[in-house]
Amino acid sequence: MNHDRSHALFSRARTLLPGGVNSPVRAFRSIGGEPFFVERADGACLFDVDGNRYIDYVGSWGPMIAGHNHPQVRAAVERAIGDGLSFGAPCAAEVTMAETIVRLVPSCEMVRMVNSGTEATLSAIRLARGATGRTRIVKFEGCYHGHGDSFLVKAGSGALTFGVPDSPGVPKALADLTLTLPYNDFEAATALFDEAGDDIAGLIIEPVVGNANCLPPRDGYLQHLRELCSQHGALLIFDEVMTGFRVALGGAQARYGVAPDLTTFGKIIGGGMPVGAYGGRRELMEQISPAGPIYQAGTLSGNPVAMAAGLAMLELVQAPGFHARLEAATYVLCDGLESAAHAAGVPFTTNRVGAMFGLFFTEASSVDTYAQAVACDGAAFKRFFHAMLERGVFLAPSAFEAGFISSAHDETAIAATIAAAREAFAVVAG
Ligand code: PMP
Repeated sequence: MNHDRSHALFSRARTLLPGGVNSPVRAFRSIGGEPFFVERADGACLFDVDGNRYIDYVGSWGPMIAGHNHPQVRAAVERAIGDGLSFGAPCAAEVTMAETIVRLVPSCEMVRMVNSGTEATLSAIRLARGATGRTRIVKFEGCYHGHGDSFLVKAGSGALTFGVPDSPGVPKALADLTLTLPYNDFEAATALFDEAGDDIAGLIIEPVVGNANCLPPRDGYLQHLRELCSQHGALLIFDEVMTGFRVALGGAQARYGVAPDLTTFGKIIGGGMPVGAYGGRRELMEQISPAGPIYQAGTLSGNPVAMAAGLAMLELVQAPGFHARLEAATYVLCDGLESAAHAAGVPFTTNRVGAMFGLFFTEASSVDTYAQAVACDGAAFKRFFHAMLERGVFLAPSAFEAGFISSAHDETAIAATIAAAREAFAVVAG
């Protein structure tokens, strides 16, 4: 594969953009090599500026669940831009968007649109703090909730110690307010709430972790967290930026039957445009300005073009059988990858939750904790990633990201992926 044009662009970009990119994971730092620059995307594929084609399992990190450049989404955007790009005043599409979200996700009685997942999670914890009058929040090791100060915090030496800033620029005083738990550990959560429960404003979790590879919740784990939060008057916040409308039409909360107090959304609800949202019970959401005293705002929030794209995408995911077909495709893909790995003698397993999957280079037969995800063979993943890329398959350029499938990944695309994987696992075994 020739990458001359991508290389030239990356050289220019590095002098102008930190690391050559506008979001770190795109730079391939953890995986090695250089990113390709995309010229266009269509269906299951990306096409780079050197004319190479890749079957894409990143899907713009989640939004493109119906494939790239879907004609219905594109047509909706084209219609919307005919009427203007931004109004700074209410428009009908915002109401339709809110109606759609509250219909599909019943724990949300009201929503507020924002412009990214980060804004959604920042706003949700402000609401949790404002509504409870408490300051501490709880998050989980390996979960990512965007780049807000309160989330860029790693665990101290024990769960009950103060959090430690994970980035320069995060004030220690703020990090102190974030407590970190190991995901899927029932006892650690109980112990933390026993100790500090009455200070906790909210607990935020990716109900299926998609930012530490792909880790499903153990049976009853989300219910356990629901009970702890209810007992202690803390708000349960599901960060469904990734899982929303993906692991089921109603998100992880529908799939696992647990209703959070607040939910954050992003990705799919923007159809590829910059969008996020947060929602929850009416009496909570009515505390947001101007209905209530907790301030949160946005010049471009509820943007008409973004609403049009998101509404068109949400139309597509409501087609009967949409999620069942995606789940079936994920199974075919993951079964095929596992068989290919085992044929090559590479220790490997997968996780699948709806249209989300994880790839683990490990002897373990199942992986559902952050510690297990971290213990996987990172060097094997790197070799596999590059061998797949050379064969025209783009996986997330990090061993700690979930993979995404779209309705455009048909049998041919999946068969081609598995064929590439047979060769790539041989390279890994090599
Ligand atoms: N929450 C989760 C679960 C995410 O996966 C992400 C982004 N990958 C975010 C929040 C932040 O969203 P954004 O990048 O749109 O700010």
